[in-house]
Amino acid sequence: MILATLRRIIQEVNAAGDLRQALDIIVQRVKVAMGTDVCSVYLTEPGSNVNVLMATDGLDVSSVGRVKLGARQGLIGLVSRRAEPVNLEEAPLHQAYHFVPETGEQPFHGFLGVPIIRHRNVLGVLVVQKREPHRFSEDEVSSLVTLAAQLAGAITHAEISGGLAGLVTGPEPVERVLKGQPGAPGVAFGEAVVVYPEADLSAIPDRLAEDPQAEEERFLRAVDQVRADLRRINDNIASVLSAEDRALFDAYMMMLSGDTLVNRTLERIRGGTWGAGALRDTIEEHARVFDAMEDEYLRERGADIRDLGRRILVRMKESGRSAEEYPSRTVLVGEELSALKLAEVPAERLVGVVSTTGSGTSHVAILARAMGLVAIMGVDDLPVSRMDGRDIILDGYRGRVYVSPSKAAQHEYRRLEKEEGELTRGLEDMRDLPSVTRDGKRIELHLNAGLLADFASLTAGADGIGLYRTEFPFMVRDRFPSEQDQYENYRKILETFRGRPVTLRTLDIGGDKALPYFPVEEDNPFLGWRGIRITLDHPDIFLTQLRAMLRASEGLGNLRLLLPMISEMSQLDEVMVLLCQAHGEITEEGCSVALPPVGVMVEVPAAVYQADRLAKRVDFLSIGSNDLTQYLLAVDRNNARVAELYDSVHPAVLLAIRNVVEAGARHNRPVSVCGEMAGDPAAALLLLGMGLENLSMSVASVPRIKWVVRSFTLDEARRVFTEAMTMEDTASIRAIANEALEKKGLGGLLRAGK
Ligand code: PEP
Ligand code: MG
Repeated sequence: MILATLRRIIQEVNAAGDLRQALDIIVQRVKVAMGTDVCSVYLTEPGSNVNVLMATDGLDVSSVGRVKLGARQGLIGLVSRRAEPVNLEEAPLHQAYHFVPETGEQPFHGFLGVPIIRHRNVLGVLVVQKREPHRFSEDEVSSLVTLAAQLAGAITHAEISGGLAGLVTGPEPVERVLKGQPGAPGVAFGEAVVVYPEADLSAIPDRLAEDPQAEEERFLRAVDQVRADLRRINDNIASVLSAEDRALFDAYMMMLSGDTLVNRTLERIRGGTWGAGALRDTIEEHARVFDAMEDEYLRERGADIRDLGRRILVRMKESGRSAEEYPSRTVLVGEELSALKLAEVPAERLVGVVSTTGSGTSHVAILARAMGLVAIMGVDDLPVSRMDGRDIILDGYRGRVYVSPSKAAQHEYRRLEKEEGELTRGLEDMRDLPSVTRDGKRIELHLNAGLLADFASLTAGADGIGLYRTEFPFMVRDRFPSEQDQYENYRKILETFRGRPVTLRTLDIGGDKALPYFPVEEDNPFLGWRGIRITLDHPDIFLTQLRAMLRASEGLGNLRLLLPMISEMSQLDEVMVLLCQAHGEITEEGCSVALPPVGVMVEVPAAVYQADRLAKRVDFLSIGSNDLTQYLLAVDRNNARVAELYDSVHPAVLLAIRNVVEAGARHNRPVSVCGEMAGDPAAALLLLGMGLENLSMSVASVPRIKWVVRSFTLDEARRVFTEAMTMEDTASIRAIANEALEKKGLGGLLRAGK
């Protein structure tokens, strides 16, 4: 099968409205593309492993849904069990062959079945059959395998959205439970609001038109504007392009003036769909006709129609949702949630976020924790476009999303919510108690912060700010903040924490923290232009920030400076030159401040192996376990697919941290941990046992970790760590730490732990 055909089938399946349609498209198109007599899809029922015929082109259609083959029955069972292709010239001669009269299968001989696999699970089997004896070629096998791999995602997706689509008309909403990664702990009840990327038609959510008249007007206005845009572009390029090349614009104009596109959309709006949704459906309807054409030129027209649709959409979106239009318990749902999106919703109306990408250490999750929201990350089977307006429950402990929750789920989660309240009240008692181990060793607990909102709970009983992520205030603006803006921001923090150390980290953008006004497009952003690499290349940005920080500390003396992403010693030299320059400038301007202590983040493996050298040169080291884990284990901290492999108590990460702690001790430099692991009770216990005396975490974690600190002697913690280090795998290490917590009666923290 040629690649273009394969791609086209996948595209069509992805655009299908529900599972039924998706499966029908698969069987019809594959049968034609491979020139077989039959193509069928069996789906495996989870639990029973029974394979049910779900779609066929070539077998008796009335057997769809009725033919069910047990896990050990027939060739289908064989493919499913082995999880690999089975290619037979003479199927009836195979010992596993099982004749099913209802399908009218008798005359078929050539058989090729491939498993449809997603995340190690066999979802079903895709089969093609030929009347004649026929052994399929290597090429045919690999085409079908490729198709099955692509279809697995589409099937999962369509299955869920199909279920949801059914809800719209069905009398009883059916609960769906989707799995993701815990992003920020807690339980939230709310209403989904879909955030979709500008100009992406397929991401437009289903929504009812609140005011059809207004929607109609908005749509027609957008069409007029696009018409004017096209005319202008056409005039501009008249001298550059030949009339022939300009034909595209004529075609666009024709589509816009022709009645079908406009009228079909208006009909849909009048039928109750909101403007963007009506546009999406009309464009898809038109484009699909072209997609299915064999002629390449005509197929291209499908892309043109979508392009036109996007242009209209951009124009329609220019008037977005206003603050009051958000439901009182909004849960933002989307593929690419950003800090800016979170900031757009009035804080009192936002209760949670659900992201199809990312994991617990993504910055959106960190931000959500700081804002006291519940977050579920990496829900990759989420049918985003069908979610708008649905009731959902978020379980931020287990990483579950309940869509249209059943009465039972609602009841259960109300109970959990209550229990959580009790745990929080229990933890409140911790607030004013000192953070000392049972044998009297003081462990400093600091806060990770980044938004002024964090300061609402200053009374969290913390010793200072261990990590202030300065990029967050940069992310929620539409341009770089001025020196004065920054000064005011930093001054407020330093003043609030007067007498306690405040560690301001210099700008750490790049990676997954993009600024809307400073786009950095890279293939591997986490290995690219990020953190100190950007600020050293932009002394203008860096000096402004350093000046603002130094000025803000005047008369307070509690500023500490932290540098992200250091991998080279020379970067330290360059920073010192700029720091001295900024200090010289403000001194000249009459501001009197001492140079603050300077520390580096140990978050790149290179820094672990140079810990001794770094310790000699700086005043303190702060371990960024989020990035250190990602770089040591080669696991993208945002990639839900490999999230199971991401755990900071991995033995390699613990060994690396111990290396840094020992280097700090050799040179008499304090070492702290400021990544998310410091707020994870099991990991924190191991860090205590390793000898760390300074941990920095989000406000919500402080009481929990204080409880851990106060429950153990240092000796006990050391013993847990020593035992854990005899283990070879992450799960066993976690089990040992969890058991130690449970023995002390801290089991309740574990649910909220990771
Ligand atoms: C880290 O990497 O552990 C860290 C604290 O920094 P950030 O999460 O902001 O990258
Ligand atoms: Mg980091």
